[in-house]
Amino acid sequence: HDGRSIAVMLRTYGEGAMLLLSQDVSERERNDAMRRDFVANVSHEIRTPLAALSGFVESLTTLRLDGAERDRVLELMRQQSMRMQALVDDLLTLARLEGSPRPSPDTWFSLDELIGLVISEVVGLSAGRHQLHWPGPTGLELAGIESEMHSALTNLLSNAVRYTAERGQIALGVEQLPDGGVALHVTDTGSGIAAEHLPRLTERFYRVDGSRSRATGGTGLGLSIVKHVCQRHGGELRVESEVGVGSVFSLVWPALRVRGGAEPAQLMLG
Ligand code: ADP
Repeated sequence: HDGRSIAVMLRTYGEGAMLLLSQDVSERERNDAMRRDFVANVSHEIRTPLAALSGFVESLTTLRLDGAERDRVLELMRQQSMRMQALVDDLLTLARLEGSPRPSPDTWFSLDELIGLVISEVVGLSAGRHQLHWPGPTGLELAGIESEMHSALTNLLSNAVRYTAERGQIALGVEQLPDGGVALHVTDTGSGIAAEHLPRLTERFYRVDGSRSRATGGTGLGLSIVKHVCQRHGGELRVESEVGVGSVFSLVWPALRVRGGAEPAQLMLG
């Protein structure tokens, strides 16, 4: 990767050290490349709506538009600025998630209250276009940062709404796992995702269908936010999907951060 550094190490430290350094250099190069990609992606994502906005301002100042045309241009301008706003919000969320320490394991919040809040938001997003299914009260409490969990769950449910056609089904399910953890399953009967894309879904700005994502207000950052939230709490994000059938995104919360609810034995009996 870096012939010069390796040659110096060969002379100074011998072969073992050379291997160590070459690993170090390749890791650094990978990080540098990722950073460059990220900056290029962010610039591109901001540039597109910005160029559209400048074009609209130009139209408004140079063309003699009648009232209806003017309103249409203003509406398009509103959409583009919302797109930039969503992108900046998600970038700030990611930066905060990456820069802050692991959430305390003894700050508890009610899962039922969180679900109640998320439901009201998703009902608004779906606006009657889907059949929505929710769990009954669970009595569970989770430890962590409620606003982060709220953002993770909202991201998964809004994806389900955005990638599921009208009259499709969207369900939120809560499963108590045998090890004491909890899985929140967001299931949809939407477009589904081909297997080759699954490993890359949580990469920043990775999109299976870029135009659909953008047309529905996607930033390409939602799933990387969800993954970060899970990892920071010691949990994980799992995905199963089949094209044309739908997807299940599961947010797994570790046993250490779960209390209350039914005992696993009771669940099995029930
Ligand atoms: P976006 O803002 O583009 O939705 P995400 O990070 O949330 O970004 O998701 C990454 C990509 O994964 C999306 O662009 C979409 O192609 C795919 N995806 C996410 N959720 C779903 C889903 N429920 N059904 C189908 N595809 C999905």
